[in-house]
Amino acid sequence: MKCHKCGKEYQQISDKDVRHFNGGILTVTDLACDKCECDSLINLGDGVIISLYADDLNKSEVLGDVTVSLNKLKERYHPHEIVDNVKKSVDTKRKMEWMKEKLGITTNEELFSKALSLLHMAIQLEERGYSIRALKDLGLLEGTEHVVFQIRNS
Ligand SMILES: [Zn+2]
Repeated sequence: MKCHKCGKEYQQISDKDVRHFNGGILTVTDLACDKCECDSLINLGDGVIISLYADDLNKSEVLGDVTVSLNKLKERYHPHEIVDNVKKSVDTKRKMEWMKEKLGITTNEELFSKALSLLHMAIQLEERGYSIRALKDLGLLEGTEHVVFQIRNS
């Protein structure tokens, strides 16, 4: 892969990341990075790990310079889980916005309240032996199509 700015091929090298936190300077060593003449790129997950660690240093009010290897940090932080969680929460937010729009409501409280009443009703019906179904009328000859939901753990 070539850099679009300097036109040089990226080289995979082991580098370090040096950044300030409130109490000092954090140096993270053994960081794989793609380097050209003008820039060096680290991978997103590694960047997330380093930021989390810097946040933790700030939270615990550490004073003084800290040097640690990326591998050591990887034992503590799991960037894939973090990236997955961020994606999931973005996905959930999008779904919630979509539902609010369809329901013509504006707040999360209203959404939760509606969702809870519906769920409560569904569980009660199942408790009484009903099954929860969605029914679609396909016309006189075709009859109906239905989907059965199972709300409770069987
Ligand atoms: Zn470059």
